[in-house]
Amino acid sequence: MTRDPRFDILFEPVKIGPVVAKNRFYQVPHCNGMGHARPRAHAAMRGVKAEGGWGVVSTEEVEIHPSSDVSPYIEGRVWDDRDLPALTLITDAIHKHGALAAIELAHAGMNAPNLYSREVSIAPSHVASPANYAPAQARGMTKADIAAYRRWHRNAALRARRAGFNIIYVYAGHGLSLAMHFLQSRHNQRTDEYGGSLINRARLLRELIEDTKQAVGADCAVAVRLAVDELRGPCGISADGEGREVVEMLAELPDLWDVNVSDWPNDSKTSRFAAEGYQEEFVRFVKTVTTKPVVGVGRFTSPDTMVSQIRRGVLDLIGAARPSIADPFLPKKIKNGDIDDIRECIGCNVCVTGDYTMTPIRCTQNPTMGEEWRKGWHPEAIPPRSGEDSFLIVGAGPTGLECARLLGRRGYSVHVAEAGEQLGGRVTRESRLPGLAAWARVRDYRLNQLNKMQNVEILRGSRVTANEVLEFGATRVVLATGARWRRDGIGRANARPIPGFDLTRGVLTPDDLLDGMPAAAGPVVVFDDDHYYLGGVLAEKLRSEGHEVTLITPADRVSAWTVNTLEQHAIQRRVLELGIEVLVNRNVAEFDGTRIVLECTFTGRQTTVSAASVVTLTSRLPNEELAESLGAMPESANAAGIVSVTSIGDCWAPSTIAAAVYGGHRYAREFDCPPGDEVAFQRELADPSNT
Ligand code: ADP
Ligand code: SF4
Repeated sequence: MTRDPRFDILFEPVKIGPVVAKNRFYQVPHCNGMGHARPRAHAAMRGVKAEGGWGVVSTEEVEIHPSSDVSPYIEGRVWDDRDLPALTLITDAIHKHGALAAIELAHAGMNAPNLYSREVSIAPSHVASPANYAPAQARGMTKADIAAYRRWHRNAALRARRAGFNIIYVYAGHGLSLAMHFLQSRHNQRTDEYGGSLINRARLLRELIEDTKQAVGADCAVAVRLAVDELRGPCGISADGEGREVVEMLAELPDLWDVNVSDWPNDSKTSRFAAEGYQEEFVRFVKTVTTKPVVGVGRFTSPDTMVSQIRRGVLDLIGAARPSIADPFLPKKIKNGDIDDIRECIGCNVCVTGDYTMTPIRCTQNPTMGEEWRKGWHPEAIPPRSGEDSFLIVGAGPTGLECARLLGRRGYSVHVAEAGEQLGGRVTRESRLPGLAAWARVRDYRLNQLNKMQNVEILRGSRVTANEVLEFGATRVVLATGARWRRDGIGRANARPIPGFDLTRGVLTPDDLLDGMPAAAGPVVVFDDDHYYLGGVLAEKLRSEGHEVTLITPADRVSAWTVNTLEQHAIQRRVLELGIEVLVNRNVAEFDGTRIVLECTFTGRQTTVSAASVVTLTSRLPNEELAESLGAMPESANAAGIVSVTSIGDCWAPSTIAAAVYGGHRYAREFDCPPGDEVAFQRELADPSNT
């Protein structure tokens, strides 16, 4: 394809201080769970972004000093010269493809618990540690501390230049930065020249910019990342208040303004809570008060939206973290006119869970994310087929579709048999629920790719039996038949069935609701022992249909695991605002069809709640009937020329959509070179000689 000339503007170079970005695609800083601990994996991931055409590729927050140690979270580090080899790996990987390398120098102040370094945390004023109710305080900084902090920052900038970075950040975003804590009047109660008026509170930020420019400004651009709005109204920094005033005050000082909203859950809102471009209303003023280039984010995946941001003078550079994770080759695809091939971010924040669980980043849409070095997986370069195998994939959910996409790309002959008329499995069903429409992109991207392949055929309305599999003639059979929710209550909180949990008493599963089965008229209890998004979403759906809804969970909050996707607060707020009653720390003891008996998870004390229906989310059972039937007839399979029958995705072990896609992808990459008992990926082992 050739590029649509409308998109030419996205490929114009942009001068940023002393350096020039080759285009307007700017991968803004993002965490990745690799950081200083897994530098090879980190460098390879950033290198693939650069290869995919991003003009600028940034690190995540990079701690400048041991007093900014955010362990156990794994971010970058530039504590001293010994960090330079790891950082140089990153800049080399980025430069290899002609992109600029940016580093976000960060000091997290009171947000750095210093659990590894055991330094005392620092802050503008004495304050209780905000991290996990830790019994610790951050100490209000003296003038000498401020001078030391400026010196650390300057030294870090000099080291960053030596490591080859082209853009050096002064970070005042997300409420995670000392420079921002000084700006925030609620955290800065100083009475000296660094506290009080906004001019005083912005003094440190100004000094950091000046220090950095003076240290490295001849060679490197100095960027400021500023949260211009905290979405706290007049209680915080706001785009029509102090956020704007800070930009006005420092307008021409940095070489680049990277502006967003704070804190991180506001900056990285999921698609359930915000649409593409949602930050525009907060950041659009910035270009009216500075002549310096401006970058901003908003989960941009549509080139038309990107062009519109530039043409309307909102942004100069299209910032992206998640869209660059879901599709590292997004710029190249636009450049080559392959718009249809863009793997659009679905806004689920599974990528954030890597950082939150201190493990390498992963992505629902892009199963190669985080595996670039560990497994040598590339998002676009796929190894060709290694033999003459032909495949029958049973099930066209996210697992089956991804498996078919990759086997198809490898050049194999593939048939996908799907029982239903609709494709996409759980993704199609769940994307009809409130706020989850963007999840259908998991299906749409794959179907779009499959439709272009002559060697892949999809058979709808084809529920296959074991005998049909034997007769089909494929050499390899892949079962991706998914899973179904249990009705009996067995899950985390209950190892045995809950008395009364059966259909005759009106106990429904999510599958029933997704199949269109209505809850009985009257009050509905949602029992959520799953703790991810679905319990909250189904409660929302039932409430919007007019039911009186009570959400009961053994956890201490609604959708507890969504802390890791930055959504928990927003979900619980929405549930409460909808008038859904929430009972936490409660298990279900029994249900008699009209009353549900609850048990406090601490005391065992029992209470009752009326319910005409119960919707239960506890755990799922794999759909393994076909696998069992085929497993019972190995000779017939042999005789039919079947080399392997493999269950993957939810029918092997129910999990996230991301895990389903990964399972499909992994099979297609690895079926012909199984790792056996070897560790299936490269590891970055600690080197005891390296001190
Ligand atoms: P996953 O997340 O692992 O992809 P899903 O539940 O989303 O699982 O999708 C599984 C798909 O498999 C569903 O669309 C279902 O209709 C289909 N399926 C299940 N059993 C069969 C079968 N015997 N023959 C064909 N399709 C099947
Ligand atoms: Fe987007 Fe989800 Fe991938 Fe993150 S994990 S980049 S939110 S699709």
